[in-house]
Amino acid sequence: MEDKKVKGRLQSPEERITNFNEVEYGFNDEEALAEASRCLHCKVPRCVEGCPVNIMIPEFIAHIKDGDIKAAYEVISRSSSLPAICGRVCPQEKQCEAMCVKGIKGDAISIGSLERYVADQALINNFNATKKIEQNGKRIAIVGSGPAGLTCAGDLAKAGYDVTIFEILHKAGGVLTYGIPEFRLPKDIVAKEVKSLKKLGVRINTNVPIGNAITLNDLQKEYDAVFVGSGAGLPKFMGIPGEDANEVFSANEILTRINLMGAYKDTSKTPIKNLKKAYVIGGGNVAMDAVRSLKRLGVDAHLMYRRSEEELPARKMEVEHAKDEGIVFDVLTNPVRILTDENNSVIGMEVVNMVLGEAGEDGRRSVTEDEKSLHKVDCDMVVMALGTSPNHEALKGSDINLSDRGLIVVEGTKTSLDNVYAGGDAVTGAATVILAMEAGKKAAKEIIDNLK
Ligand SMILES: Cc1cc2nc3c(=O)[nH]c(=O)nc-3n(C[C@H](O)[C@H](O)[C@H](O)COP(=O)(O)OP(=O)(O)OC[C@H]3O[C@@H](n4cnc5c(N)ncnc54)[C@H](O)[C@@H]3O)c2cc1C
Repeated sequence: MEDKKVKGRLQSPEERITNFNEVEYGFNDEEALAEASRCLHCKVPRCVEGCPVNIMIPEFIAHIKDGDIKAAYEVISRSSSLPAICGRVCPQEKQCEAMCVKGIKGDAISIGSLERYVADQALINNFNATKKIEQNGKRIAIVGSGPAGLTCAGDLAKAGYDVTIFEILHKAGGVLTYGIPEFRLPKDIVAKEVKSLKKLGVRINTNVPIGNAITLNDLQKEYDAVFVGSGAGLPKFMGIPGEDANEVFSANEILTRINLMGAYKDTSKTPIKNLKKAYVIGGGNVAMDAVRSLKRLGVDAHLMYRRSEEELPARKMEVEHAKDEGIVFDVLTNPVRILTDENNSVIGMEVVNMVLGEAGEDGRRSVTEDEKSLHKVDCDMVVMALGTSPNHEALKGSDINLSDRGLIVVEGTKTSLDNVYAGGDAVTGAATVILAMEAGKKAAKEIIDNLK
């Protein structure tokens, strides 16, 4: 008999484009047991190597088989403080699951879905009971409450440090809260993970932009150590004519409006409504999130990408979900001008077809414009999802070392400033949740070692 993985159940495409509920339902007990039973428990588990935080995967899967979900959760918690989130949004197909021996000839174990199952059970059954922690009297400030900051805070709080997070937005979670949409990562999951940190004693001061009334230098003087996890939230634009039109947005702005400000409700202060057709420009996960969110607002949602479908950098699963939902993919096409009316409102775009060339050193094929192919498309919104870079607001007034690309320079996780550490997207540029968590963990360890 063929050894196929247990397929997760999904909301049907017809239903899910009418709501923001999670697309995947997650394993039930029987499905989790059946999938866990496929694991071979390799003597040298390559999956663990593939996990950036080295979760002991075969060990937690063995506990699922034995029906001891609490023990499975304890194994995961030794390495990851945000498993309900990672189980949902980690690119497992490029990490742990890519290394799974079963994947060589057939289906890899669905490690992400099993992690999510265990973490959800832990949240439902409140496995996270806090033990009494002895305080050591040392105070740490953390700038930013994304996965890097939250992970660093959790590890330090568990070690007895008095931790305060400063967050510029009115809600904690960073991209987990304002960027990744509800249908991939429900906000109550993020809120529960944040709540369990607060139970450990971590204070989260929202609505506090570091770099203004309080600067990094102030924090440096007042605290024993500072961790900067301010992310990479500055969007890139194309620099084409018409980009200053009223309905040209960055993907981050559209997603923030929808996720944080309920732009789909009539009562929202920043509503997105009465739109007919929108183009999202880009081909990564952020582009997929933006275009799929717009589809849920009833918009004729198109994705425009300058390379071919094969080169799309987004996760394969997200591309499949987007297609099932009826997103139109206009590949090998690029805008050259945004067309506007007398009120500076978007009425369309001039676009050209693109021609693929040879692969460059980075393995990506070059593209050139076919100038003769210039044509118009109609639309009333354009959303740019072309990547982001770090925003230096938090660093204002400090002389912290930055690279040519504007990333914070670190040795380990230590910056050029005394007792100031950094990690996550602010150091690497836009990356992934698990890499930001890994950096937060490393920084916590270095802080603990250096403050001994
Ligand atoms: C739409 C979208 C979808 C994504 N999907 C995935 C996915 O499916 N899987 C995946 O692994 N990764 C995904 N990513 C990438 C991932 O979310 C990031 O790599 C990760 O969140 C980086 O974590 P971080 O803690 O470094 O930064 P962030 O999550 O960006 O958090 C930084 C925090 O710092 C705060 N901040 C910034 N400046 C200041 C200041 N001056 N004062 C106080 N606070 C400040 C910000 O408000 C923010 O809350 C996605 C990213 C986006 C934008």
